[in-house]
Amino acid sequence: MRVILLGAPGAGKGTQAQFICEKFAIPQISTGDMLRAAVKAGSELGLKVKEIMETGGLVSDEIIIGLVKERIQQDDCVNGFLFDGFPRTIPQAEAMLEAGVDIDHVVEIDVADEEIVKRLSGRRVHPGSGRVYHVIYNPPKVEGKDDDSGEDLVQRDDDQEETVRKRLAIYHDQTAPLVSFYKKLEAEKGANAPKYSHIQGVGSLQEITSQVLEALQ
Ligand code: ADP
Ligand code: ADP
Ligand code: ADP
Repeated sequence: MRVILLGAPGAGKGTQAQFICEKFAIPQISTGDMLRAAVKAGSELGLKVKEIMETGGLVSDEIIIGLVKERIQQDDCVNGFLFDGFPRTIPQAEAMLEAGVDIDHVVEIDVADEEIVKRLSGRRVHPGSGRVYHVIYNPPKVEGKDDDSGEDLVQRDDDQEETVRKRLAIYHDQTAPLVSFYKKLEAEKGANAPKYSHIQGVGSLQEITSQVLEALQ
């Protein structure tokens, strides 16, 4: 199964992806996690994207498309994968179509901007695994520590309110048009296009998970 989770930063893509990927035994392909790993490793790619990421901008389509094309060639992708945070622009989506990558489902998780700001200001992550928590909505068992490893949780640099507002503006401008892009594709190509589903992303983690599962049927 090949799935795209679409939604604003903070909509809950990563949180739901952990659950869905475990259930269907497919890898979670988060371009954000891949880029953060490159920044941490200090690689050439990391040096190129560090500042753009810190200030909430988008990394170039060329870099992202190259990264994803390479990633989906790997052995663990034979039974499918889940894209989390990709595609984020129309050219990224078109590149997948041109490469003949058949997506089965596009699931949009829709959350209002004010809720996003609350979520991202309380988001804490475990850098080693990418596991996501929230200080109030989804707290770890021990404050400030990852449930599995016991290692420290951190706040991402780009989760400061001003940067969040900028990322939201970019989302509405560059990424939200993908909603009509995929709806149009489905209208034109029917069963040969990804099935598009819209989910209201406000509610408990479990409520959202069951809606995502329903969309994937
Ligand atoms: P979030 O989970 O909050 O949506 P991500 O972890 O997906 O954020 O992405 C973090 C940052 O990495 C983005 O703000 C952007 O700078 C960069 N990035 C990630 N994915 C993409 C992409 N598909 N296209 C361009 N930039 C990306
Ligand atoms: P994304 O990957 O779309 O950027 P995340 O999965 O990282 O979003 O979620 C952003 C923040 O919101 C995290 O702190 C997460 O724990 C929290 N969160 C996720 N889903 C919900 C939900 N249904 N209700 C409340 N908070 C949530
Ligand atoms: P494990 O025992 O493998 O750590 P958990 O049940 O603790 O598994 O969950 C792992 C991660 O997934 C945690 O961040 C948790 O908050 C999150 N999680 C748990 N249940 C759900 C759910 N229904 N939907 C989304 N995320 C969930």
